[in-house]
Amino acid sequence: MGVIGNALQACQERIRGACVMAGREAGCAGLIAVSKTFPAEAIRAAHAAGQRRFGESYVQEALVKQAALADLDIEWHFIGPLQSNKTRAVAEHFDWVHGVEREKIAQRLSEQRPAQLPTLNVCVQVNVSGEASKQGVEPDAALALARQLATLPRLRLRGFMTIPAPSEDRQVQRAAYRMLTDLANEARRQGLAVDTLSMGMSADLESAILEGATLVRVGTAIFGGRSYT
Ligand SMILES: *Cc1c(COP(=O)(O)O)cnc(C)c1O
Repeated sequence: MGVIGNALQACQERIRGACVMAGREAGCAGLIAVSKTFPAEAIRAAHAAGQRRFGESYVQEALVKQAALADLDIEWHFIGPLQSNKTRAVAEHFDWVHGVEREKIAQRLSEQRPAQLPTLNVCVQVNVSGEASKQGVEPDAALALARQLATLPRLRLRGFMTIPAPSEDRQVQRAAYRMLTDLANEARRQGLAVDTLSMGMSADLESAILEGATLVRVGTAIFGGRSYT
């Protein structure tokens, strides 16, 4: 197995270990391999090693790679910030959108989701770090947005996603992720069918899994460091 296959295996080991530590069943969290900035061949190598879910953040870059990989069975997750002029491409070419933070974007995604495709899976992006982050809706507003998303015909509300401000302190990491878990529990109490907590990256996936992550998004630990030049 190549470098990417080995790194994937090591990442799966980390996930398994964290699930055990959390007292959750093995495979308690799915892995999204975040392939932004890496070429289609890197995705092909990860796919050959068994990986099926991939995350991309930049629409144009993703479309080029998707065209080159059309022969593969891949579940595509859009995890980047989404502007309204890119919603159509995302509605047509992705299976999941993790970063929904505005009703207007959600409405466009629903209107533009092609009829022959299944409903688009979406997560509400929540800011769990207060002033330290500008991405995502405030926890107080997240449930209202989730309720709105749940009414849109071509979307399927799956849950919540967050990118906390980076911290090396495990307790700080866990406290941030716990906010998302609390929110999902409250959403369920209110009758929303929420089954997804998209949280945890290369540096902190253990903390996220300990707090209930069901999908972790891992780039660096699989593909190596990114250069944006
Ligand atoms: C880039 C990115 C990741 C992956 O981060 P790593 O630290 O490389 O694992 C996860 N989530 C989002 C939203 C990202 O943009």
